[in-house]
Amino acid sequence: MAQFHRDPASYLALMREEVPDYERLQDETAAATGTAVRRVLELGTGTGETARRVLERHPEAILVGVDASREMLEHAAAALPADRVQLRVAGLHEPLPDGPFDIIVSALTVHHLDAGAKAQLFRRAVAALAPRGRLVLGDVVVPQHAADAVTPIDGEYDLPDSAADQLAWMTDAGLRASVAWAHRDLAVLVGDAPGDGGVIDELVANNQAFAAALPAQHLDVRPRRRLVIVTCMDSRLDVFKALGLREGEAHILRNAGGVITDDVIRSLAVSQRRLGTREVMLIHHTACGLQTLTDDGFRAELQEATGVAPAFAIESFTDVDADVRQSILRVRRSPFVLHRDLVRGFVYDVDTHGLREVDVERES
Ligand code: ZN
Repeated sequence: MAQFHRDPASYLALMREEVPDYERLQDETAAATGTAVRRVLELGTGTGETARRVLERHPEAILVGVDASREMLEHAAAALPADRVQLRVAGLHEPLPDGPFDIIVSALTVHHLDAGAKAQLFRRAVAALAPRGRLVLGDVVVPQHAADAVTPIDGEYDLPDSAADQLAWMTDAGLRASVAWAHRDLAVLVGDAPGDGGVIDELVANNQAFAAALPAQHLDVRPRRRLVIVTCMDSRLDVFKALGLREGEAHILRNAGGVITDDVIRSLAVSQRRLGTREVMLIHHTACGLQTLTDDGFRAELQEATGVAPAFAIESFTDVDADVRQSILRVRRSPFVLHRDLVRGFVYDVDTHGLREVDVERES
């Protein structure tokens, strides 16, 4: 491929000649930069072909471009919007500009590095990426089948590696690596940086696997068992597992304590009057967090910390059975709830996993 002695004016024509799918590679590289991008670092800006596409795709973004050739960058500067780019003369072995960047992108550049320098560049890229940032490499690779090696390789400046090797080095650097596009000896490789340590990133990844493993289905919005469960937010009670329930079968209302608040009554009213439920099952539990505080104490704590007394009731309790009875009575006495006769209350033991019913005298 055309190398460092290249002439900017004729470089683009030469690349198009030597890389048959040059335009496609550029387009796929830009497409792989995703969405919601503000700060881009480009490695090997060259004449600005990739930068132009990336800036077009992300109208809010600014781009820092580095290239070893001052001549090339002068060419790029003339082709790119001056207020959105900062161009710097630097080689890929030099320290990267200060991040964090949402995207680090490079097209037809990284194949000039040998295997060790590529792996090392990926590690430096990770350090310059923002949480959930992305490294995008569009480049010539060593194809799986020799017949696919259609781009001229000079063996001195061109040091391509296989996509598989580069994905492995990205993974070693801490990126989630994948192939965004591949054709013959060209590929767009993507490495996604982890989030900022939040557990939600992990859950989003879990969900991708969960959704991928399931066929699509559509269930009725009205719960099949015509049931509402009101319970505590406690993390030890898996309502679906503990009661043998499945999706589409019941409404589950949860708050601290499983307390019957105005908002729970609101949900019960919608559930029974619009979505066809009848029975109400209240489940409180042993060792509840609300037993560890008092109304007055927590109210004072909130007021002291914020300067504002909360408008809501704290609803702490000491006797779990008494609290279940009170909750049953609140549902039974609410005019907004349609089926007030079908309310039962229970205590779930978080250690034994068993339910125990709490009886309430029927009011006449
Ligand atoms: Zn609780």
